[in-house]
Amino acid sequence: MDIGVIGAGYVGLVTAACFASLGSKVICVDKDREKIKSLKKGKVPIYEPGLEKVVKDGLSKKRLIFTTNINLAVKKSTIIFIAVGTPPKDNGEADLSYVEDVARKIAIEMPSYRLIVEKSTVPIRTGKKIEETVKANNRRRIKFDVASNPEFLREGQAINDFMHPDRIVIGVRSSKARDILTRLYENFKAPIIVTDIESAELIKHASNSFLATKISFMNSISNICEKCGADVIKVAKGMGLDRRIGKDFLSAGVGFGGFCFPKDLEAFIRISENVGYEFDILKAVKKVNDHQKMHFVKKIEEALWILSGKTVTVLGLSFKPNTDDIRYAPSIDIINMLKNEGVKIKVFDPKAMNNAKKVLTAVTFCKDVYSAVRNSDCLAIVTEWNEFKEMDLKRVKRLMRQPLIVDGRNIYNPNIVKKLGFKYIGIGR
Ligand code: NAD
Repeated sequence: MDIGVIGAGYVGLVTAACFASLGSKVICVDKDREKIKSLKKGKVPIYEPGLEKVVKDGLSKKRLIFTTNINLAVKKSTIIFIAVGTPPKDNGEADLSYVEDVARKIAIEMPSYRLIVEKSTVPIRTGKKIEETVKANNRRRIKFDVASNPEFLREGQAINDFMHPDRIVIGVRSSKARDILTRLYENFKAPIIVTDIESAELIKHASNSFLATKISFMNSISNICEKCGADVIKVAKGMGLDRRIGKDFLSAGVGFGGFCFPKDLEAFIRISENVGYEFDILKAVKKVNDHQKMHFVKKIEEALWILSGKTVTVLGLSFKPNTDDIRYAPSIDIINMLKNEGVKIKVFDPKAMNNAKKVLTAVTFCKDVYSAVRNSDCLAIVTEWNEFKEMDLKRVKRLMRQPLIVDGRNIYNPNIVKKLGFKYIGIGR
């Protein structure tokens, strides 16, 4: 099939590269000239395991084209995925100006029937708005359909998630749109859920909010554990074996971050308000998440007594392992809170240093974990990269000014670490 993908970010690029690898001809568009220039050479500007190989493969087989020219994609592709960003506005609502811009351009340029598919995460009724926008700008009255096909991939394992999803959600208003999309996905071994557009849009927000709720729920449990001497890891294990609950997303930590959960949660709270419903559970989920970061800083303060003038090493800047994405990463808030207390910060992350340098000032960026812990008063684990699990803790202890670990992701066994001579503080244990 001929596919256009507008937006070459984490979602658009993975979508484009994966469909090309499955045999479609894909034109992937981005307005960022530098990004397209590097993609044309097969260089992927983000860190996503396995993505560069799939992109290079698509380029060499001439099934994947990168361009800044949206008209090319609109002219040549029957199916056009909109995968541009939907960042939050100041009030938490999703900013849909990029989506609107793309919808207008498609309407003006489309030469014949086009199926316009929302891949970006958008509020309910965005599909309706896209339909209205395309209609208003489509002077030649060319036939089109709008569909919703939300993306559930996780950064760090995006290729596998895209190729082997738990389910594929397709929201359509016409049987033609349904047939095109079910044919596009027919070789995927996953159930295809066909709904109306509004339900598909809601499935995405409801899913992300539910997962965020699970995390905040466990973080609340971890606070109870700390007060009564229980171990949140054992509690999570005991809960997760119940199939109605499930094992995933039960890890307590420093709170969730990333480009999806925080912004989608905020957006869903606003969407609910707009339709006349106060989503109190989600407001609590957000409150717990914000509190968890402050709670982590408090733990460091309790261990060090006076923060001002101390040196804290923060290991892990990306919002989770195996990505270089630092958007809404807990590390940024935690570092800024510590800096406000006069703490000197040293940081290291295996992949996110370049992105972090764009937003963090007055911190020392170190070349590896060992230079990061040298002369430090506290080692704070914020992202659970494997590299941190495997470091030589004896060497770390020799390098630190005082042997203190505040483990925001519970990556170490407290007994082992304490035996090595560290003071160890985890989450909920
Ligand atoms: P991103 O910021 O990485 O990528 C968006 C891209 O769109 C950018 O490269 C930007 O230059 C481009 N763009 C913006 N306006 C454009 C225009 N008019 N024409 C061409 N290109 C344009 O964002 P992302 O992480 O890929 O997220 C995209 C959407 O997918 C968001 O709605 C997000 O919520 C959703 N989503 C993200 C994830 C994830 O894990 N990142 C997962 C599922 C869904």
